[in-house]
Amino acid sequence: NRKIILAERPKGAPNENTLKLETEAVPQAGKGEMLLRTVYLSLDPYMRGRMSDAKSYATPVEIGGVMTGQVVAEVMESDVAGFSKGDYVLSPSGWQDFFVSDGTQVLNLGPEPENPSWALGILGMPGYTAYAGLLKIGEPKPGETVVVAAASGPVGATVGQIAKIKGCRVVGVAGGAEKCAHVTDTLGFDACIDHRAEDFAEQLAAACPDGIDVYFENVGGKVLYGVLPLLNPFARMPVCGMVAWYNLQGLPEGPDHGPQILSTILRMKVKVQGFIIFDSFPIELYQEFSEAMTGWLKEGKVQYKEQVVEGLEAAPQGLYDLLEGRNFGKMVVKVG
Ligand code: NDP
Repeated sequence: NRKIILAERPKGAPNENTLKLETEAVPQAGKGEMLLRTVYLSLDPYMRGRMSDAKSYATPVEIGGVMTGQVVAEVMESDVAGFSKGDYVLSPSGWQDFFVSDGTQVLNLGPEPENPSWALGILGMPGYTAYAGLLKIGEPKPGETVVVAAASGPVGATVGQIAKIKGCRVVGVAGGAEKCAHVTDTLGFDACIDHRAEDFAEQLAAACPDGIDVYFENVGGKVLYGVLPLLNPFARMPVCGMVAWYNLQGLPEGPDHGPQILSTILRMKVKVQGFIIFDSFPIELYQEFSEAMTGWLKEGKVQYKEQVVEGLEAAPQGLYDLLEGRNFGKMVVKVG
């Protein structure tokens, strides 16, 4: 069994000393247990948070512990009711080839799911994050302007496409011309601005002539500062993530934006609400999401892009790339 463990807590950006590959015997499943073999491992920005022991909503990975992660796995043998050899499952196995489970928090996807890896993306946690955050906190109305960054990634791409379905004008923000072209041409956003452009704020303002009604916050940083002056009265801001700041060790250099942020919220009466996907919404919403998204995918109203990295040993670099925007689409590792 190959597994990737947290060797040390990173200071700033993770590097080659952060995660290490180790090998051990394949674990044995006992009575009331099943043996799962990982097929796909999901890479997600929250994993940077699990490397840190700063106070958060989840406990960090221990030093020497297997990195946390959701996988799609195949059941190799099973003594758990409701799971049979050959079934595919969604499981919190972590970054490793094999995992012994008693079925806790494992979802059966059946023997032959059509696109098994999609359970880690558009039909799973990131897709649900976009759906719930946009519709329940963002509350977009037809004709309103919605802005979302990391627009070619699984959350941002889905936010924008759902907002289009709801009749909004949608402006994405992404890193580079290739991602921006994908966001407008394939995903159907009305515009997409490259956050690396010198005149980013001016370009964003030009793309939002009627201001911004919903800013779905994925990144923070320069994008947030560009958005603030454009927010309309009673704008909504679901705070989902701030990947631009995940490697910060203290407060950044430069001017203090605190007064600008709070005075905008006050003057524009902005609703700002953070959320953590699996403890912020009623459980029934997941079923509603699953049905809606399955339908939109079938009808071709939502497009989905994945980047598949080959081999468990490539997973650490895959995560570091993701945190720096060197991914294009939902990152998954093909393990088995
Ligand atoms: P992505 O696959 O989109 O990856 C992150 C992207 O962030 C990168 O590809 C990059 O895209 C962008 N990025 C990185 N640094 C910067 C920067 N300095 N400025 C602007 N953009 C940057 O991630 P996900 O779709 O999986 O997640 C998106 C966000 O949602 C993250 O913040 C994540 O933590 C959050 N999230 C929150 C959840 C919750 O429950 N609250 C659940 C799931 C996700 P580009 O090259 O286009 O800039």
